[in-house]
Amino acid sequence: MKKLVIASMIAAAFGMAQAGEKADVVVIGAGGAGMAAAITAHDAGAKVVILEKMAFPGGNTIRATGGINAAETPQQAKLGIKDSLEQMYQDTMKGGHNRNNPELVRTLVKNSNAAVQWLISLGGDFNDVGFMGGATNKRCHRPTGGASVGPEVVKTLYNTVQARKIDLRTESQVVDLIQDKKTGAVTGVKVKNDGKTYEIDAKAVVNAAGGFAGNNEMVSKIIPRLKGFATTNHPGATGDGITLSEKIGAAFVDMDQIQTHPTVVEKTGVMVTEAVRGNGAVLINTEGKRFCDELGTRDVVSAAILKQPTGHAFMFFDEDVRKSLKAIEGYIKTPDMVIQGKTLDEVAKNMGVPADALKATMAQYAKDQKAGKDSCCGRTKMERPLDKPGYYAIRVTPAVHHTMGGVKINTKAEVLNAKGKVIPGYFAAGEVTGGVHGGNRLGGNAQADIIVYGRIAGQGAAAYAKAH
Ligand SMILES: Cc1cc2nc3c(=O)[nH]c(=O)nc-3n(C[C@H](O)[C@H](O)[C@H](O)COP(=O)(O)OP(=O)(O)OC[C@H]3O[C@@H](n4cnc5c(N)ncnc54)[C@H](O)[C@@H]3O)c2cc1C
Repeated sequence: MKKLVIASMIAAAFGMAQAGEKADVVVIGAGGAGMAAAITAHDAGAKVVILEKMAFPGGNTIRATGGINAAETPQQAKLGIKDSLEQMYQDTMKGGHNRNNPELVRTLVKNSNAAVQWLISLGGDFNDVGFMGGATNKRCHRPTGGASVGPEVVKTLYNTVQARKIDLRTESQVVDLIQDKKTGAVTGVKVKNDGKTYEIDAKAVVNAAGGFAGNNEMVSKIIPRLKGFATTNHPGATGDGITLSEKIGAAFVDMDQIQTHPTVVEKTGVMVTEAVRGNGAVLINTEGKRFCDELGTRDVVSAAILKQPTGHAFMFFDEDVRKSLKAIEGYIKTPDMVIQGKTLDEVAKNMGVPADALKATMAQYAKDQKAGKDSCCGRTKMERPLDKPGYYAIRVTPAVHHTMGGVKINTKAEVLNAKGKVIPGYFAAGEVTGGVHGGNRLGGNAQADIIVYGRIAGQGAAAYAKAH
């Protein structure tokens, strides 16, 4: 015994892997998918360890602003919104250019209401429901008053992790998966913490390490034209989950499907949520004109902005839109982000666009909104006439935002190998996976994805651990 302790102290001191620690389920990443999986596995009776490489939990999840999509919810019913699972399925497939895996989408849609109600049962507030691009109906759920969704999701999950006393270790990067050479099963992880490496034996591992949109080297290797693009992602979105899975022979899907978000402030990388357009905002170019259906899918709107002189546009809205969405207050408070004016003349001057052109554009828009027919760009959802002073503009351009591709999973969140066979003991959920969003993710669907598949992965991993 004494010898073992001394050996492990020497191993730790030299940064070598040590054996010994055991868990039923190890979860890689404390973002939304990881914490949802961990809570679910814990509640199913498993001993769970969550490993997070950053100093704090949240990942990209905490950055989410617009909302979480779900259909046929009591929150929609209360607001008189008619929607259906079938319409959410159709919108998701169409938005993803039908590249999505239909079975994964069916599972996403079917469990979307349960995902939102589960978060509410854990103490979250998701009572406001709004439009996002590519959605036929209002189905994007967010806190009352339109506050940002990500902090609410992370707060809800993190409080639950703490209340359940689940072992969450920050600054703990998984650097390798341990695989049984004979069976191919994943049986543990190697973890790096404070320069030292140790091992945890696990009956099942859930990979919830997120995407790689924050790794421009990886992104531009796949799509060279995105080299040097800004990103909306947190610094930990470097694709570790992909690299780990590659080493053990996992299959991948849609790795070249990388989404740019159309409305990002270039210097700071701050993303202006689609919910602002959903609540009425338009896009204006440097000539003071609109140029596209602002609620088109992200790939289409991004391309339209890049075609404008200088490749930028202004997100433009009035006092009425500002009041409709709490998230906007955060932008207003951010130094040098929002250009303002009490009148159209004043805001046009501050934007550096011709005032006459802007006034003509907005007068036409108000007329079109009243008539319910957009004469410029075929926009079908015009929530507000945008004629209530003051006026606001944010200069935006596209930035790398979401990696739709990733590890190939089935509807049980089990990871598949190149032969289409399940890798025993290995589950994945969230942005590290591919197939749910196809060629283009709809706003609000990633939050649905991480909770729905996080829960499925947690359930599956706990059941697998029990059986082995
Ligand atoms: C600015 C912004 C706004 C968004 N808004 C919305 C929105 O309104 N609605 C919507 O549906 N989607 C939105 N998205 C997308 C959505 O938030 C993400 O796709 C989703 O939250 C990803 O969740 P995840 O749990 O898969 O990954 P993450 O939340 O990124 O969590 C992964 C975690 O794994 C950790 N990790 C990585 N590698 C390792 C390793 N080797 N070892 C240990 N830990 C590791 C990371 O540090 C991270 O904490 C937005 C994204 C961004 C960037």
